Amino acid sequence: MSRNALFIDGAWRSATDPDRHSVMGAATGETLYLVPEATPREIDQAVDAARGALDGWRSTSAQIRSELLLSMREGVLERLEEIAEIWATEAGMPISAGRAATGGLPVSALESFAEIARTFEYEQSLGHSRMLYEPRGVAVAITPWNYPFSQVVIKAATAMAAGCTVVAKPSELAPGCAYVFAEITADAGVPDGVFNLLSGSGASVGESLVAHTGTDVVSFTGSTATGVQILRTAAPQLKPCTLELGGKSPLLILPNAPLLAAVSGGMASCFRNNGQTCTALTRFIVPRRLMSEVTDIARDYADSSVVGNPLDEATTIGPLVSASQWERVQSYIRSGIEAGASLVTGGLGHPEGLDAGYYVKPTVFTDVEQDSRIAREEIFGPVLSIIPYDSQEEAIRLANDSDYGLAASVWGSDQDEALSVGRQLVAGTISVNGGAFNPAAPYGGLRRSGMGHELGEAGFREFLEVKVLNV
Ligand code: NAD
Repeated sequence: MSRNALFIDGAWRSATDPDRHSVMGAATGETLYLVPEATPREIDQAVDAARGALDGWRSTSAQIRSELLLSMREGVLERLEEIAEIWATEAGMPISAGRAATGGLPVSALESFAEIARTFEYEQSLGHSRMLYEPRGVAVAITPWNYPFSQVVIKAATAMAAGCTVVAKPSELAPGCAYVFAEITADAGVPDGVFNLLSGSGASVGESLVAHTGTDVVSFTGSTATGVQILRTAAPQLKPCTLELGGKSPLLILPNAPLLAAVSGGMASCFRNNGQTCTALTRFIVPRRLMSEVTDIARDYADSSVVGNPLDEATTIGPLVSASQWERVQSYIRSGIEAGASLVTGGLGHPEGLDAGYYVKPTVFTDVEQDSRIAREEIFGPVLSIIPYDSQEEAIRLANDSDYGLAASVWGSDQDEALSVGRQLVAGTISVNGGAFNPAAPYGGLRRSGMGHELGEAGFREFLEVKVLNV
């Protein structure tokens, strides 16, 4: 595999502009390697390859598409360690968590879409009508740096299962895992042109792919601002877009909740991938009389986190992805202090002894004002805001008082009460009493957290269009 090449029509091709983007080590701040900026001609070549492969791929039997997905699953399992190392090195995900995450969602998504591809009824009857579900065509997959492997796998697996061909553009900050995935598709025997990979900047390569008249559907994961821009770019062609965007997700603790389980679970979510997780529970909404108990558990959790080299097995919090993310998180911590929130632990600057790389102190704020920036905006670092409430009604109002609606969690000792509160929360995925993420269920955000779904049959349908034959 050459990282200064582009994967087009089943082969690595030397790039015209090979050394444009430096991929930096999150723990060192030093350049690891360089990747290309795909030129307009190379973008056309990738789209042409995907279009050229489309007829053959959409008429390949669902059984064969399904078998190829299962071969890719084997490829992922074989290269799991390498993928987790790249993720740790480029984006800072601690290796032990990254290994588990790589063997988790990407593997289950490949299994689940292999099953859905095989069992979905592409032709359905409704009265005198035949409904034909057909692949939309060439899919654009644009992905962020924080979960750089699972995002590209989920999008490619779903599109390919549905009979679409793919042009993927990973984040220029952490593209290495996507390069490995391109090799996995080739090793699995995916026909040439079905999966193509371009590297380059979002504003140029990403935008050109969305605007290209040779692409038919866009699946995007990233920030809300970019999602809005993508929708604008896609609008003149009315090109369907699935957008998985940012979040500021609440954990609502009811007065009788098992506190240790609720707070520890919430902290694990808030600090997962060093806080660089879209679904992170970053706002704890807590009964006023339990504030000090909850704050103590949160402080202990933060202070016992092992901040360090993401390649060390014991590390639980690694560095952030880039200098600009580090600056951004510092500015949020500064704004929390200036807004008068109580800093419980963490704060500004590098953790002791970790001056190189983009390390941040695990930080907990309490008595946070609902209108402050740290309570409302996505920080994308290990920073928690604890907010007090006096009545259940107020708790639900605070939880829902957000521009976002990606995820939420509620804990209480009475399951019915917790479920009733869960029903009133405005979010795409809500965990009740620690209920685990279900990779077979539709996943998507409400409000400014997104449009459409990934995963499950709902995710699969995003890559299909329906035609009705009235007989
Ligand atoms: P980003 O929006 O900056 O970039 C995401 C991707 O879009 C990159 O590949 C980038 O090059 C590309 N891009 C940028 N501008 C573009 C444009 N104008 N047209 C087309 N493509 C463009 O996001 P990021 O900083 O890489 O990732 C962090 C964000 O992603 C956070 O907001 C996080 O919440 C979100 N995210 C959401 C989910 C989810 O499932 N909802 C999952 C992971 C990350």
